[in-house]
Amino acid sequence: MMDDDIARTQGNREISPFDPDGMFDALEEKLRQSHSFDLGRIRAAYEVAKTAHAGQKRKDGSPYVSHCVAAADIAADMGLDEDSIVAALLHDVIEDTALEHEDIARQFGTEVADIVEGVTKLTRVQYTSKEDEQMENLRKMLMAMAKDIRVILIKIADRMHNMRTMAYQTPEKQRSKSLETMEIYAPIAHRLGMQRSKWELEDLSLQYLDPQGYQEIMDTLERRMPELEAFMDSMREKIRVRLEKEGVNASIFCRIKHVYSIYRKMYAQKLDINGIFDLCAFRVIVDTIPDCYNVLGIIHDMFKPVPGRFKDYISTPKPNMYQSVHTTVIGSEGIPFEVQIRTWEMHYTAEYGIAAHWKYKMGDSSSSLRSGDEDKFAWVRRLLETQQESDATDFVHDLKIDMFADEVFVFSPKGDVINLPAGATPVDFAYSIHSDIGNRMVGAKVNGRIVPYDHVLQNGDIVEIRTSKSAPGPSRDWLSFVKSGSARTKIKQWYKKERREENIVRGRSMLEDELRHMGVALDEALSADILHPVMKKLSFNEEDDLYAAIGYGGITVIRVANRLRDDVRASKPDHRSAIEKVNDAAERREQQAKRNAKAVHGILVEGLDNCLIKFSRCCTPVPGDDIIGFITRGQGVSIHRKDCQNYLRRDTSPESEGRWIKVGWADTINDVYVTTFTITAKDRNGLVMDIATVLNSVNAKVRNLSSRSVGYGQAITVVSVEVKNLSELRYIMNRISGVAGVTGVTRNGS
Ligand code: MN
Repeated sequence: MMDDDIARTQGNREISPFDPDGMFDALEEKLRQSHSFDLGRIRAAYEVAKTAHAGQKRKDGSPYVSHCVAAADIAADMGLDEDSIVAALLHDVIEDTALEHEDIARQFGTEVADIVEGVTKLTRVQYTSKEDEQMENLRKMLMAMAKDIRVILIKIADRMHNMRTMAYQTPEKQRSKSLETMEIYAPIAHRLGMQRSKWELEDLSLQYLDPQGYQEIMDTLERRMPELEAFMDSMREKIRVRLEKEGVNASIFCRIKHVYSIYRKMYAQKLDINGIFDLCAFRVIVDTIPDCYNVLGIIHDMFKPVPGRFKDYISTPKPNMYQSVHTTVIGSEGIPFEVQIRTWEMHYTAEYGIAAHWKYKMGDSSSSLRSGDEDKFAWVRRLLETQQESDATDFVHDLKIDMFADEVFVFSPKGDVINLPAGATPVDFAYSIHSDIGNRMVGAKVNGRIVPYDHVLQNGDIVEIRTSKSAPGPSRDWLSFVKSGSARTKIKQWYKKERREENIVRGRSMLEDELRHMGVALDEALSADILHPVMKKLSFNEEDDLYAAIGYGGITVIRVANRLRDDVRASKPDHRSAIEKVNDAAERREQQAKRNAKAVHGILVEGLDNCLIKFSRCCTPVPGDDIIGFITRGQGVSIHRKDCQNYLRRDTSPESEGRWIKVGWADTINDVYVTTFTITAKDRNGLVMDIATVLNSVNAKVRNLSSRSVGYGQAITVVSVEVKNLSELRYIMNRISGVAGVTGVTRNGS
């Protein structure tokens, strides 16, 4: 079996780029064999691209559209879907021709148009080489800009072809594109698990970044090739025979490691190539995971393992979902070589990474990933979840990249990538560069256009801040729209430092307004007695510090005002008398009671149904009292207690006596009854307050309360309360009788 890594897919490189039609025919043939695509639609895309790019030439003089076909061909090799192939053919038309998004959308659908537009946006991003952190931000920015993962994959295909044909470019361009490929696209391919693409991008870049180093390795490999091939053949044969004997169904491949991995090893270990022994890598692909470990045991039995080189990425996959077991052993000639053991499923995942999703959705028969769609989604999800903290579920549903939803990446004019929270504005940007830039900011431009301070930045925007030494400083309004905590902090700091006097005045006036609004007297709240303890509790040494803090927003005015109000209240009795307060509450309740008034009063009158009932004011009976009714002239039956003075001292003439009738309480009573009682007590300070406190503590619903001094050191307090029945009333009266100085509590009327 040929080694598929050495015979790396070459696309249509054997067909001349001067014959794009021939290239496209070959692509069409390839697609016909492996996929059930709408080839008419794909050809239509080719025709559109060919017409649009007509007359344009590549650096080698070939028709430009040859590049489009080549990119589509690479996309096909990656295993992408039909929309991706169409988009790959059209990937440069927005950038380089008169066609626009809507033209593409009309003929090929919005999805294709969106992908092409996405690729165009990435193409327009300018890079300069930066330190590692910057590079990571750039990679994230590209991923975030792409939104649809296919945009990235097509961009990789585009870059792949440009790198393959880099020979025609100027040395400067070769170098800058190679650097960008090495720093941006190869790591993205790696992150997406696309080992095959990553390797090729790295090797192509190295060719231009260190031509001598690259050539040295190539020359050496070529010189040693007969020896290496003989070695690989003999080892492979040994392994094959042994595995066959053991009854393991396995495919064995071997390859020379890719150039950049050898280069990196030389560089890291400061060795020349002759010092690198394990140039060869063997790969054993089996059907099941138990087979992997079984093969590992067999290999270790055949050859001596190098200590410390065994790695189990099956039980612990790499972040990009790569799985295999690796071991390095010493061959019979004393030459070390690496063996990677994996299942077919692991193999496809390793080769194509995220692109395997489409490759195997299309029903490639060589795939062992024949499980349902859900499982394929599952691994895409795993791939992303292991790399990103953010939830990747949405991504899996519509294959959009939503991993950096809470971040936005923008450029400084120098090309630095600045990472800000989503929704960030030029003010956030300015403060992220330096406090002074923010504090001296007098305007902002995004992509060359002047924008308002609260303009929301988008991925890839180039942001420019105009500053002036005579700038007035940040505005408090900025606090309402900045998104980054650091900008907020820096703006507040500025106010704290630069504007102390202003803050003091402002803070004091804010506090006064708030207190006035609360109805708290300023002279009391701001008196030293009240203010200073509050100030100390809030850890301020001076009044001005407190006002300044309120002024710049270091402490909220509400918090301070609430404390002052509470302390003012606690420091003295309420202004209103206890009686006023109780009666206010009573009035509110009476209004409520009126609203809830019921026609039935819980009274049964002998021999009469539905007669008008009223409760006498003299004795105010409540359920439980012994009662009697008096038939009034035209006002129904008036209800009295049997111990009411008006009953006891009634007119006993026969005519009058006949108007007293028997009444009783109904069994179920839902009404409440207002009754009145009188308290006699020694007059003293705080008597009413104490009575009111007890009434409140027993939840008495007071309708009215009045108290007066009657001379001789005595006071009379009359209370009207709502009760349900006699026992509730007795309880209240009983509690009142316990108040200091109270000598009697009696019901009115008796
Ligand atoms: Mn291109």
